[in-house]
Amino acid sequence: MNTAFVKSARTSLMLSVLLLLMVSCGPAEPPVQSAAVAEPPVMETAVAVESESALIERARGIHERVIVMDTHVDINTANFTPDINYLQDLNTQVNLPKMDQGGMDVAWLVVYTGQGPLTEEGYNSAEANAMDKFSAIHRLVSEIAPDRIELATTSEDVRRIVASGKKVAMIGVENAYPLGEDISKIQDYYDMGARYISLSHNGHSQFSDSNTGERDDVWLHNGLSELGRQAIVEMNRLGILIDISHPSVEANRQAIELSRAPVIASHSSARALDPTVSRNLWDEELLAVRDNGGVVQAVAFRGYVDSEKHRAWREANEAGESAPPVDVNDFVDHIDYMVELIGIDHVGISGDFDGGGGVTGWNDASETFNITLELVRRGYSEEDIAKIWGGNILRVLDEAQQIAAQIQSEAGA
Ligand SMILES: [Zn+2]
Repeated sequence: MNTAFVKSARTSLMLSVLLLLMVSCGPAEPPVQSAAVAEPPVMETAVAVESESALIERARGIHERVIVMDTHVDINTANFTPDINYLQDLNTQVNLPKMDQGGMDVAWLVVYTGQGPLTEEGYNSAEANAMDKFSAIHRLVSEIAPDRIELATTSEDVRRIVASGKKVAMIGVENAYPLGEDISKIQDYYDMGARYISLSHNGHSQFSDSNTGERDDVWLHNGLSELGRQAIVEMNRLGILIDISHPSVEANRQAIELSRAPVIASHSSARALDPTVSRNLWDEELLAVRDNGGVVQAVAFRGYVDSEKHRAWREANEAGESAPPVDVNDFVDHIDYMVELIGIDHVGISGDFDGGGGVTGWNDASETFNITLELVRRGYSEEDIAKIWGGNILRVLDEAQQIAAQIQSEAGA
């Protein structure tokens, strides 16, 4: 027998004994926990050896493969004409060249109406405003740029259009005020492509109290009105998502309780990180959305991300001094917070562009990759990022449409 072999065999035997001793000497831990303890060093090593350029490369690959969707983009209909439109890189935060540059695939364009008086006259002028916006979006996809962008109303549409290389427009309605008191018009909005509606904006509507009631603690309905309840039933029947971003805490509690389908917040962040912002959602509200199967789209409006920091920056700016602006890090802190609290399946992203935005590093659609890069830096996987950038809200839309089909078949039976 070769002595060298014996030596190495003995050495490996000794090593095995030593390893066994080390294992058995360790603290008695349940198997799951010790497995969790054993893994991180490997991951840490992998991350540590990845160079900055390799990380950026990896993030770019993820950004290209996942569907990147912003769920709240305002519009000005003056930018939807034959001469001035989204084919040009206008001075807007979202348009086709900026979407191309930043790899943004889908923009939910918003039919927004400011709150006015609850009168026939008020409803009529609100309706004219809403129809003007619906028409503008339809013009974009049918006349201005039909070979560049297409309207989607289902998750299948979104996947098909993205695969064809075109951009995707979807339609959300911010404030149900222009519906007046006629619930049957919700069907018209559905037929025009609307797939989410918020029952109020800033100021109480005929359907729902608004978050702005917190300013003076004056409420119109103590939540939803009877008309608001009917509107929710009708939205469930059609498969339109209920958007809880602007209504009051009590209205949202009632809406979630009443809705048969999961709800969304199309543009709201975590109120725990900035309790002064009544447009964000308390932990209790976030947890209610999770339990309801819905999704909260963190909003990159700088005044809602960190109102204190933004105020300090603005004041310094006005005084000709400098201060740190609200940036991508501050915004992604909201995503982290919400993912930690309610889970990866219930969080998404919105820019509130052309009506807000303003976060340094993601101040328009062309800078959209910076969000994916920051998510990759913070350890989110491709699967996580696909959910956050659009997978979650498409799942919720699918569920709302399945529930609508069920409601309609129950009614027909
Ligand atoms: Zn808004």
